[in-house]
Amino acid sequence: MSTIVAISTASGIGGIGIIRMSGENTFNILDKIFIPKNKQNITEIKGYTIKYGKIVDNNKQIDEVLVSYFKAPKSYTTEDMCEISSHGGQVVMKQILEVCLKNGAEIAEPGEFTKRAFLNGRIDLSQAESVIDIINAKTSKEAEASLNQLNGFLNKDITKIKEKIYSIMVDIEASIDYPEYDIEEVSNKKALNTLIDVKNELIKLENTFLNGKIIKEGIKVAIIGKPNAGKSSLLNLLLKEERAIVTDIEGTTRDTIEEFISINGIPIKIIDTAGIRNANDIVEKIGIDKSKDIANKADLIIAIFDSSKELTEEDFEILDIIKNKLNIIILNKIDLKNKIDENKLLKINKDIIKVSILNNEGVDKIYEKISELFNLEKINLDNSVTITNERHKNEILKAKHNIENAINSLNENMPMDIITVYIKEALENLGNITGENVSEDIINNIFSKFCLGK
Ligand code: GDP
Repeated sequence: MSTIVAISTASGIGGIGIIRMSGENTFNILDKIFIPKNKQNITEIKGYTIKYGKIVDNNKQIDEVLVSYFKAPKSYTTEDMCEISSHGGQVVMKQILEVCLKNGAEIAEPGEFTKRAFLNGRIDLSQAESVIDIINAKTSKEAEASLNQLNGFLNKDITKIKEKIYSIMVDIEASIDYPEYDIEEVSNKKALNTLIDVKNELIKLENTFLNGKIIKEGIKVAIIGKPNAGKSSLLNLLLKEERAIVTDIEGTTRDTIEEFISINGIPIKIIDTAGIRNANDIVEKIGIDKSKDIANKADLIIAIFDSSKELTEEDFEILDIIKNKLNIIILNKIDLKNKIDENKLLKINKDIIKVSILNNEGVDKIYEKISELFNLEKINLDNSVTITNERHKNEILKAKHNIENAINSLNENMPMDIITVYIKEALENLGNITGENVSEDIINNIFSKFCLGK
């Protein structure tokens, strides 16, 4: 395989930058561009060592660096590798990249280092996919679930299930090969029990996806209320809380901003639109349609009302929007004289939360309510597998379907070859998760989502 190179640190200025190289020519190229302080023959340098020296281009020094050596097969990709830690300036890092390219390296594609780790058999496909999930994780729980996957937990579970399926194949083959021994009935019963066991294991895995989806995608929450009810104050308070990890991510639509807070390590995605924020007036200026649109996108709506004012037409429209959605009703400004008719709100939700955002009073109850509505405290990863990846879930569903077909066929005394077809397909579905027999297209698609240098 060619020798690849990429800048692995994020673009922008940093204290240090890392340029990574992998492939059989790594040390030849390094030999031409790196002058270590105590020059040493590459054959004498051990893996997992770091050398200090200069990167040069035609005897002209580019930077002062540290180079980490990783010798095959004990490296990220299992190939000869090095990581050049340079100063973190864009110009310097690009010059080092250029000099590597000039001396025979090729620019790496996104995710190519991890792809090689997979193709060279160091990790399976689900582990490779977990690398990108760790990098993209927005909260500690998401990172933990991905780390469990990187540690091979999913692989272990899948392997166990596959072993059970193989044992069924052995039984079935025995009943086909030695019909004279009259073992068919025994084998069938055993096969049936194992198939049911396998099905239950697959259902267990499938069920973890519910939590997995929450962990990965978060819970979409929309805050609505008429002008001055206290939406921005609430949002700011939630975002400023110490426990909140805030990231601004440009949404898919042009004017949507999604902000994340974290409750019990679960990402809570607060849907907010720049348009609405600029107008600062959800009902009047953007109109009720926009609120409906936001409400549709949300898993939960927090509707906020001003307790110091009587309910208006706009408030009733908001109540109308939330009545068929999972909602939390907040009565804000309880520090002021109460003028609101609570009974109208109680008709929609019996559990009103009374707060004074100004005085930071009662806000904890909002966290508690969100946690209760989505059972967040029960999401406990404790070294267990949680399926967070849609692709894995789909393969598990397909495998389950094939196992169900095998069970039905066995119950209906169908010919053994039909049953083995279903069982083999289930094995293939599971193999797609760990990447034993996936097509190149799927592999390329997965790795194209990686960042450069990973
Ligand atoms: P929005 O238009 O719904 O985003 O409302 P804001 O968050 O901008 O709040 C409108 C006004 O109400 C601001 O002057 C806030 O300081 C004030 N406010 C927010 N929460 C409270 C509260 O709990 N008590 C009182 N007295 N004023 C509040």
